[in-house]
Amino acid sequence: MNEKIEYLPFGRPNFSSEEIDAVTRVMKSGWIGMGPETIAFEQELCVFLNVSNVVTVNSCTSALELSLLVSGIGPGDEVICPSLTWCSTANASLYLGAKPVFCDVDLKSLCITEQNIIEKITEKTKAVVVVHFGGYAIDVVSLRAKLPPEIVIIEDAAHAIGSRYLDGTPVGSSGNLTCFSFYANKNLSTGEGGAIALPNQEVADRLRSLRQHGLVSDAWKRFTHPKSILTAELMELGYKMNYNDLQASLGRVQLRRQGEFHQRRLDIAKLYCDELAGQEFGLSFQDDVLSEDHARHLFVVMLPLEHLNIDRNDFVIALRDRNVGAAIHYAPLHSMKFYRDLHDQPSLENTERLYEKILTLPISASMTIEQAKYVVSQFNSLIQECYK
Ligand SMILES: *Cc1c(COP(=O)(O)O)cnc(C)c1O
Repeated sequence: MNEKIEYLPFGRPNFSSEEIDAVTRVMKSGWIGMGPETIAFEQELCVFLNVSNVVTVNSCTSALELSLLVSGIGPGDEVICPSLTWCSTANASLYLGAKPVFCDVDLKSLCITEQNIIEKITEKTKAVVVVHFGGYAIDVVSLRAKLPPEIVIIEDAAHAIGSRYLDGTPVGSSGNLTCFSFYANKNLSTGEGGAIALPNQEVADRLRSLRQHGLVSDAWKRFTHPKSILTAELMELGYKMNYNDLQASLGRVQLRRQGEFHQRRLDIAKLYCDELAGQEFGLSFQDDVLSEDHARHLFVVMLPLEHLNIDRNDFVIALRDRNVGAAIHYAPLHSMKFYRDLHDQPSLENTERLYEKILTLPISASMTIEQAKYVVSQFNSLIQECYK
């Protein structure tokens, strides 16, 4: 029962022969750039997310930067965001010359709260980037009502494809610019990639131009309508941040399989919540992690350190020695050298407390229940060895 199995990474994509066939079809078609598959993927995402426009880009990092750009964020502006997140959330502001201002998170949801944000507002605050941590959907309707109307809300939904807000509508449909990631280990994976969901058609057109150098006409149109090259016009300084049809063909299959993926993640999370030891000593999980509305990109465990004779880092290393690819999401950005050197960083009490005790257990749509049981058995034997 407890014999060692192959190393289990914290996230692993699930590709079937359908994805392989889809990519093969595009490779044989003679066009692998941005074209009909990308357009179809964007339209299918519009339906899935219940939103009128989706603009794909090469990453969620790019999606965040372009979202801030089209919101008018620039030098001198402050953008509030959590520190307990991946660096892209904050770096996006810096690319535009704006200043990321880190705020604290709630101890149970691991997400920023209205109060956390309000404490950080100054006359320079122009935007907030909220992160739906692990797939926990922040209540952006309530947040919108509490913030001054001129402060833009941008949603970093890198973890949250398939998550739903309190009213049951999909993350992506709120009316805010909402950024998704299709990176290698995300719930919908195309290796690299990202998308912005938004209601406004004109802003979507500008994003389409910005992802392609600032051209009005995209590469697909130039490919299919050779004469349109004659009228291609640069409107502004854009970027090379487009998606392509190889990725989109993969993404279309991954999108169709989201229901299956969602169920597997739920089954794994249920097993963890039912069977992980230490709960009587205060071992705890993120709020709502078993909710139907949570995408469960990450399964975070908070260790009851006061009952253990081991710290979190050694606990993670011991799990890895047992082939359980535990990880840490995330080392807080306000403690990172680069951000400390940039300017003085405030202390963030909850973020710092959480950082000492959080770890992420493997969860993915390609993990089996047998593998999840192996994780439980290794976790439980380790924590029992470490009680004091
Ligand atoms: C993965 C991730 C990103 C960046 O996504 P990329 O597609 O790799 O650029 C941004 N924010 C969060 C919270 C992430 O987890």
